[in-house]
Amino acid sequence: MSDCIFCKIAHGDIPSKKIYEDEEIFAFHDINPIAPVHFMIVPKLHVGSLMDVDMSHQMLLGRILAKANDLAKSQGLNEGFRTIINTGRIGHQEVYHLHVHILGGPEPLVIVLVIVMLVFGTKKLRNMGSDLGGAVKGFKDGMKEASSDKPAEKSVEPQQVTGQTIDVEARREQTKS
Ligand code: AMP
Ligand code: ZN
Repeated sequence: MSDCIFCKIAHGDIPSKKIYEDEEIFAFHDINPIAPVHFMIVPKLHVGSLMDVDMSHQMLLGRILAKANDLAKSQGLNEGFRTIINTGRIGHQEVYHLHVHILGGPEPLVIVLVIVMLVFGTKKLRNMGSDLGGAVKGFKDGMKEASSDKPAEKSVEPQQVTGQTIDVEARREQTKS
C-alpha cells in the first residue's frame, strides 16, 4: 500500500534498524522503544491488522511467530520476552500494517533499584528502613491513643548503650567514690 509506513520500510523507502529479512517477513527496532529491547516482526504483504486476517494467512502468521524466539535470542533476550499485537482502535493500534511487538530486557524497576543501591549504599538504606519503622510505630501509637478513652501509655524505647555511655557511667561512679 503506497501510503503505509511499514510497506515503505519493507521497500527500503524509509530507513529502519532492520535486524532480519527474508522473502516474506522482516524485523526492525521500534523507533520509540518502551523496553530495553523492542522490535517488531512484520509481514512484507500489506495486511492491515488481525481484523483482516483469515485462514489464508496462517502460513504467514506461523512464520512470524516461529521466527520470534530466534530473533529474540539474537537480541539477547535469553530469559523470555513479551509479544504484543495491537488490533484496531480498541487495541490502540497506531500503524495499520500487521506487526508483532517483541519486548524484553532488564526491568526498568530493577535498574532503578540498582542505581539507588549504588548511590545511597546499603547502610543508608538500612537507616532509612529503621526510620520508616519508627515512623510507622509512632503513627500506630497515635492511632491507638486517639481511638481509646484512656490515653495510650507512652512506649519507652530501650536506650541504646554505646561505648561512650559506658565511659560516662564509669566516670560518674569514680567521682562518687
Ligand atoms: P502499534 O500500531 O500501536 O502496535 O505500534 C506501532 C509502533 O510502530 C509504535 O510502537 C511506533 O513507535 C512504531 N513506529 C512507527 N513508525 C516507525 C518507524 N518509522 N520506525 C520504527 N518504528 C516505528
Ligand atoms: Zn503496509
